[in-house]
This record gives sequence, C-alpha cells and structure tokens, in this order.
Amino acid sequence: MEGKIISWTSDGKPVVPEIPIIGFIEGDGIGPDIWKATKGVLDKAVEIAYSGSRRIIWKELFAGEKAQKIYGEGNLLPEETLQEISRLGIVLKGPLTTPVGGGFRSLNVTIRQALDLYACIRPVRYIPGVPAPLKNPEKVDVVIFRENTEDVYAGVEWEAGSKEAKELIRLINEKQRQKGGSLISEESAIGIKPISEKNTKRLVKKAIQYAIENNRKVVTLVHKGNIMKFTEGRFRDWGYEVAKEEFKDITITEEELKKYEGKIPEGKILINDRIADAMFQQLILRPEEYDILATPNLNGDYLSDAAAALVGGLGMAPGANIGDRCAVFEATHGTAPKYAGLDKVNPSSLILSGVEMLRFMGWNEAAELILKSIEKTVQNKTVTYDLARQMDGAREVKCSEFGLEIQKNMEAL
Ligand code: NAP
Repeated sequence: MEGKIISWTSDGKPVVPEIPIIGFIEGDGIGPDIWKATKGVLDKAVEIAYSGSRRIIWKELFAGEKAQKIYGEGNLLPEETLQEISRLGIVLKGPLTTPVGGGFRSLNVTIRQALDLYACIRPVRYIPGVPAPLKNPEKVDVVIFRENTEDVYAGVEWEAGSKEAKELIRLINEKQRQKGGSLISEESAIGIKPISEKNTKRLVKKAIQYAIENNRKVVTLVHKGNIMKFTEGRFRDWGYEVAKEEFKDITITEEELKKYEGKIPEGKILINDRIADAMFQQLILRPEEYDILATPNLNGDYLSDAAAALVGGLGMAPGANIGDRCAVFEATHGTAPKYAGLDKVNPSSLILSGVEMLRFMGWNEAAELILKSIEKTVQNKTVTYDLARQMDGAREVKCSEFGLEIQKNMEAL
C-alpha cells in the first residue's frame, strides 16, 4: 500500500509522514453516511491546504456489525482490528452499536482500555450560527481532558444482598468500628471507584502539555475532593504535584497569582481547581475564565455533555481518545439506528473529530480550512434536519449534500 506508517516520539507525539496511512472504522447505523461525508471534506481540505504534497491513505478497519459479517457471528471487535489500530497509531471512528448482553460492556470502552487510550479529549467551542441556549455561547471555549481508564470505568460493583456485597460490608464495618466511623447498611449495593497517582498524573500532564502547545492559559482540576478525600481529593493533589514536578517554570497557582494582581503573566499557565458542582455553574456563569478542564472519569462524563449542550452542539461535538502512541478520534453521538442509510443526519461531529485529528497531526492549515468552511455553511443556513428545525429560514439538506456544501465553501475561502 502507498503511504507510510506514523511513528511516535518518546513523549507521545506523532511523527507524521507527508503521505500517512490512517485507519478508519465506518461504524454502525448512520456511520457509513457520516463517514462518506467526512472523508470527502477531509481529503478536500488536505488537497487545498497542501496542493497535493500531503495526502491521507485511508485503511478500513472492521468493528461492530461489519466485523461480524467478515469475521463471523459474535466477533464485533476482532483482535486484528485492535492490532491494526495500534500499528497505524491514528484512527478516525464512527459510532458503534453497544451489544446488549454478551461479554462486552461497550466496544468503545473496550477499544479505549485495550489500547490504553487514557485521555478522553472533548473540545467544546461555539460554531457561530448554531442555535444555543446560552446568551453568549461564544464565550465557551474549553477542552475537557477526562481520565479514561479508572474511576467508574474501572469500577467494580456488587449487587445488593449478594454474597460478595455482604462479605465486603462485613469487612468494611469491622474496620469502621475500629476507627469509630459510620457503618454501611447490610443490604446496600457496593461500588468501588479506584483512582491512582500514576493515571492521574499522566492525564494532568497531557492536559498541561496541550495547554502549552495550544497557547491556553488555565488548567483547572475538577474534583469532588471535599467529599471523597482519598480518590477525588487525591486527584486534585496529584494534579498540583505533577504541575510542580514537571512544569515548575511554566505553571503558577491561584495563591501565586495574587502577586500579579490576578493577571496571568505572559508565558505562564495557571493551575487551579474547582469542586465539580461549582464547576458546572461556573461554566454557565463565567465560561470565559476556563480553558482546559482535567477531570476524573465520571465528572468528565457529565461535564463533557453539559458543556457541549451549552453551545448547542451536543450533536456536533468532537471527541478523541489518546494514549502515548495511539489516538482514536470519534463522533461523540451514537449510531442513531432510526436514521441508518437515510442520508439524513448531521456529519459534523465526525468531521470536527477529523479536524482534531488533523491538528494532532500538525496539519493545522487543513484543520482551519474545515472549521471556517463549517462556520460559513452553518451561517448560510444550509444545514441538516437537526439544525434546520431550530433555525428560521434554513435550507435543509441531506448528510451528503451538507458535506459537499462544506467542500464547495472551502474552495471559495
Ligand atoms: P444516538 O445514537 O446518539 O441517537 C440519539 C438521538 O440523537 C437521535 O435519535 C437523534 O435525535 C440525535 N442524533 C444522534 N446523532 C445525530 C447526528 N449525527 N445528527 C443529527 N442527530 C443526531 O443515541 P442512542 O439512540 O441512545 O444510541 C444508539 C446506539 O449507539 C446504542 O447502541 C448506543 O450504545 C450506541 N452509542 C455509541 C456511541 C459511540 O460509538 N461512541 C456513543 C453513544 C451511543 P432525533 O431523534 O431528535 O433526531
């Protein structure tokens, strides 16, 4: 196959050849429709931005229903696919149906865990023209770094009344009696939520590196440490620690900021922290004060959707799952089965995930072209049904037509 494999630096940066091989997983349901539109837009942007000197060679990888057809019933995530994602290093992925019952919790979670894609990254910014519930949605411009391997993702649960739950409760209550703590009711269900120093530090390190590379000014640690001191509280402490240990000259705390009368000095990044519930209201009331949010798994889950909804973009939010030598960029919505094959839905979530992928590759010129062209297309009110139903005077187009419109507008930029 023409094209070269991406290699990686020791600190987790891709070294991208002029003609890289990049994997794609079409996805189930609406996946094929949005993938087709996305591929057209990405290829066009690269062609315009680099006049043919750069090009992507796409290699299809199989997961979900398509994998079953090729690899046999029940084989939704073949070992070969996981190996190829790991070998190619960068993959763009459509949504996959979560199998009901069976061995998989979710194909997406399995991919993230099998490849140790420990940072789930969700950029949230307003696209002018998109109907949004906030008065000034353009003030929201944050990137959420959600820990992707532990907390509830590595959570273990036991059903109320089960032998295991009872055994654990007995053990815990014994310890509680020794230290005079409150007891757990015997009939409770039990859930365990692990949070570790190693996994917290590598996540926060990635968030700070991203801030440095993208000229961001604030990294906020979002936690519930006032209640869960040794999990969420330690997430906060370890976050501050890694900032001090590895980015001492660049980072300052809110305490140190007082010396500068509250103004972040040039070249510095402010590391602060917020309790999760306060973070939700701050994001609504003072979004312009926030930049990068680093969170444990569950806080990040809530926060990503809430933040995307604020800018009206829940159906248009991009996402990425990144490790130290592998990155999977993916649409954040599901397979919307009732629209499968109708060429109807909005492909923006996957296209914008492609924009993040291009940025990650260092192909910023192509990424910017796409962003500008999406903005122009939405401002022209040429949109798919989901946006059309919220806009006055919109022209509703099909998924494929929306993709072509973005390509056309790109040519005129
Ligand atoms: P969903 O597929 O996200 O669809 C829910 C609704 O969201 C759709 O009916 C549609 O709303 C809207 N929507 C989703 N994508 C859209 C798009 N591209 N353009 C316009 N509107 C869009 O959620 P679901 O029905 O709960 O889940 C379906 C399957 O997807 C499940 O198997 C689930 O597990 C899986 N899933 C996969 C992923 C993933 O692969 N990352 C993520 C989430 C869910 P209207 O009906 O109002 O038009």
